[in-house]
Amino acid sequence: MADNNHYNVIIVGSGPAGLTAALYNARAELKPLVLEGSEPGGQLTITTDVENYPGFPEGIMGPELMEQMRKQAQRFGAESKFETVTEVDLSERPFQVKSDGGSYTSDALIIATGASARWLGLDSEARLRGKGVSACATCDGFFFKDKEIIVVGGGDSAMEEATFLTKFASKVTIVHRRDEFRASKIMIRKAEKNPKIEFAFNKVVDEILGDDFVTGARLKDTQTGELTEMKVDGVFMAIGHDPNTKIFRDQINMDGDGYILPDPGKTTTNVPGVFACGDVQDTVYRQAVTAAGSGCMAALDAERFLEAQEEE
Ligand code: NAP
Repeated sequence: MADNNHYNVIIVGSGPAGLTAALYNARAELKPLVLEGSEPGGQLTITTDVENYPGFPEGIMGPELMEQMRKQAQRFGAESKFETVTEVDLSERPFQVKSDGGSYTSDALIIATGASARWLGLDSEARLRGKGVSACATCDGFFFKDKEIIVVGGGDSAMEEATFLTKFASKVTIVHRRDEFRASKIMIRKAEKNPKIEFAFNKVVDEILGDDFVTGARLKDTQTGELTEMKVDGVFMAIGHDPNTKIFRDQINMDGDGYILPDPGKTTTNVPGVFACGDVQDTVYRQAVTAAGSGCMAALDAERFLEAQEEE
């Protein structure tokens, strides 16, 4: 380190991708800085039981898993700061990184800022999150054995999640705000063929009902304004995700939706020294374990990059 604010590697984001990158870079004695962001630990901190992360046969609570990952990275010398990055300059090395707590520079930068599920924005939705309201069927579907649930959305995620949820639920109603789905025909057909799936068109969720746990939902007809109540045990949002890439806009290759486009099969990007891992570049898998795997790849790629710089 040349000065107190210069690092070999800065990792932006602290979900499974960021903290795994931190662990690997720390073990390579690179003393990485993790700028944890506005949701330290990432999306897993808003779920409850995680039952599909290998190594925990009894499952583990999302926040605890992330705390363990952080401790493991810190044990080898990773530094965490609970600050949110507000501005970066990737136009030359060392890269400049400004947060709400300070200014830093680094020779390599790992982007692990993740994606955030879209929510409807209802107070009742926020209050009952983790208590019957979820945005992750893979994470929480298991808890809805023989229950009736709603999936909100009309895209491929809604079809896929509804179909997946019929493994557990006795009935799944897809609630969509229009009378036409955005999803691909093949996914729609699969959902239509499933005897456990029903459809509610031209409807939006106006309110989620329940005190301690979801007991129902109030739906509003988008054409007539008519309100109806449905008895359900769970409400799953599948209305899309937004990658957290605003601060990197116009500085790195992204697709039309703002997901970072690394080089195919790698974590390297069009900016030498900048690496991307986790959900910020993943529109397909979006799992904690795949994010962690790509975090490891980014750390190894960053290490090789720094080694090559030293040799030059
Ligand atoms: P999406 O295609 O953007 O669809 C989001 C859906 O949610 C749309 O039907 C939209 O309605 C609805 N919606 C958005 N905001 C809403 C709100 N506030 N209230 C009610 N409804 C709302 O998102 P996605 O389904 O997550 O898919 C994202 C991308 O991943 C797509 O490219 C998709 O093809 C891909 N994907 C692929 C697979 C697969 O191939 N296996 C699986 C999942 C996702 P409108 O239609 O009225 O806008």
